[in-house]
Amino acid sequence: MIRKSRFIAWLALVAVFSTPLSAIAQTQIKYHSNKYSVQDDIKLGRQAAQEAEQQFPLLNDETVRGYVARVGDRLVRAIPSQFQHPEFRYYFKVVNASDINAFALPGGPMYVNRGMIQAARNEGEMAGVMAHELSHVALRHGTAQATRGQKYSILGGIAGVAGTILGGPGLGQLAQAPFAVYLLKFSREYETEADVLGAQIMANAGYDPHDLANMFRTIEQQGGGGGGFLSDHPSPSDRYARINREADMLRVNNAGNFTRDFAAIQERLRGYPRAPSMAEIARSGQRYPSGPTTSQTSGSYPDNVPSGRVDYPSSRYQSYSIFNGGVQVGVPNNWRQIGDGTSVWFVPEGGYGQYNGQPVFTHGVNFGVAQTRNGDLQRATDEFIQSLTQGNSALRLSSNYQRTTLSGRMALAAVLRNVNEATGRIESVRLVTTQLRNGQLFYAIAVSPQGERNFDGAFQNVFNSLRIND
Ligand SMILES: [Zn+2]
Repeated sequence: MIRKSRFIAWLALVAVFSTPLSAIAQTQIKYHSNKYSVQDDIKLGRQAAQEAEQQFPLLNDETVRGYVARVGDRLVRAIPSQFQHPEFRYYFKVVNASDINAFALPGGPMYVNRGMIQAARNEGEMAGVMAHELSHVALRHGTAQATRGQKYSILGGIAGVAGTILGGPGLGQLAQAPFAVYLLKFSREYETEADVLGAQIMANAGYDPHDLANMFRTIEQQGGGGGGFLSDHPSPSDRYARINREADMLRVNNAGNFTRDFAAIQERLRGYPRAPSMAEIARSGQRYPSGPTTSQTSGSYPDNVPSGRVDYPSSRYQSYSIFNGGVQVGVPNNWRQIGDGTSVWFVPEGGYGQYNGQPVFTHGVNFGVAQTRNGDLQRATDEFIQSLTQGNSALRLSSNYQRTTLSGRMALAAVLRNVNEATGRIESVRLVTTQLRNGQLFYAIAVSPQGERNFDGAFQNVFNSLRIND
């Protein structure tokens, strides 16, 4: 494999030298030895992307996502030919998180934080972070690092050292781990390569490669040292200088002015409520739905603390199809849907809001899917509960498990007790779990203040109506 790719690289080098306008002084980058196949990269990335999308709330805004994807596609086309992998599928999604960060997975999936787009001073700075991340993918750094037997931690170890593709982190682990653990940790050598190739890609794509260096300054100025791109990338302070040195050697191909689109997207993002940080997302486990959304059935959170004063559940029910049609459920027609993606709430007016910038619920039901390490329902449920309680010290199990059924399949029911963050009231959290065919854990949660029995009947009806079609 190595010999072949060197040969291809050599061919490409010949091509580069025979092109008169190329910047011949630019640093030449090579692949590292890699015992994994390109298909392994693709498989690992696909698995990791699935996990990522269960953990992180995506910003469901097609305008923003489409814009980021256009920038991403332009960068992908600018990857030097020797690092192009036609088998890779690059795609771009926006995570509704405030940290200045982005990460890309082997084989192409890339996740750009909303905070990164909002912090960048221009499109070039945003593109710089993306070009750096793309470079890790194009250079196949994840599997190269695994080949060396070094710890390559990606979302807590999915792309494990031994090359295990399955067996990602359980929820418990994720809730426990500081967020940085989920992100790629590459050696300094690899980071420098990604900076250099990133600068080259930027120049090819028509961006000023100095903007990649500038982004580090922008992050520092915004006090971003505490989390995000800088801290995931333990790098020497001369990184800024190194990128600028490379940038000085590069000729920018068809320099473009992209700032008008960028300003409009930043303006649009300012209209959303504050995004949670990655640490807050990790602490909240799976409890919260995926961020602001523009879809008609889903709403975003009001800014206020939930009053907890809610209307009696209507006796008329409305049927909803959630999780891309995978689940049907009937819900009192005076409740509304909040969120989609991997966690959906149905809540009455007054029963939800924000507290300390976090979504909070006093009444309602929540459905979601959790990735667990255990194939056994009881152990998977243990693990799920552990992840919830680790994220919230006030939450604890107050009953044994009981066998029940959900959508005609074997399920476990348990009751937890919590102190509501916003109202300070003790609440009862009823949990029912069952397994999906793919081994993931499906959970249904009903929340109401302890002692308020008038929601019990509605919760029972909702759970009884639930149909899973996997
Ligand atoms: Zn990096």
